[in-house]
Amino acid sequence: MNILMFGPNGSGKGTFGKVLCDKFGIPQVETGVIFRENISKGTPLGKEAKGYIDKGELVPDGITIPMILSRIKEKDCAKGWLLDGFPRNKTQAVAFWDALQKEKIKLDYVVELILDRETAKKRIMGRRLCPKDNNHPNNIYVKANLPVEKDGKLYCRVCGSPGLLTRADDQDEAAIDKRHGIYFDTNKGTLAAVNYFKERVKVIQLDTELGVKEVSENLLKLVK
Ligand code: AMP
Repeated sequence: MNILMFGPNGSGKGTFGKVLCDKFGIPQVETGVIFRENISKGTPLGKEAKGYIDKGELVPDGITIPMILSRIKEKDCAKGWLLDGFPRNKTQAVAFWDALQKEKIKLDYVVELILDRETAKKRIMGRRLCPKDNNHPNNIYVKANLPVEKDGKLYCRVCGSPGLLTRADDQDEAAIDKRHGIYFDTNKGTLAAVNYFKERVKVIQLDTELGVKEVSENLLKLVK
């Protein structure tokens, strides 16, 4: 099962992607996570990517495209993959589609999460990361994902860990606006990539204004 997941930052790609990954037993391949892991390990890739990420700019296609093409050939992708955060622009979409055609790899589903820009921005700024597990959702602006508050301190709603973190690029409004500018750009940006796929495969659209439970149920009805 091979899936692409699109949505503006803040729309819940991580959360809803996990729902599908759990269902199909496939890994969630998140370009942002791969870059951040490389940054924290101080690898050459991380050093190169950091400057772009801090400003909310895209890491150059020449680095990102080969990185993903080799990632989906790793052992854990034998049953398929869900890509989150890639393709991020039309150039990546065209290169990726061409690579899939060449290697006769089927793209089973393309999912587009719909959320307006202002709501997405608020959700990003409210995001809090659990120090123990990246996939534990905590958000001070999303009712369903509120962290636990005790004596003025916040704790992970899933495992109770203290010391919830924020990502620097999540608290920088200029960087958020830049990331959303790239996403909502229908000319060369991520929506241009979504439109490129709409001309080739059926794209499933999901309204993410609803709660996590309803959106997850709708998603599971559509992706079988
Ligand atoms: P994310 O975790 O998806 O918000 O990604 C964080 C940052 O990683 C982005 O703002 C970009 O700088 C970089 N990044 C993530 N995915 C891509 C991609 N497909 N192409 C280029 N840069 C990316």
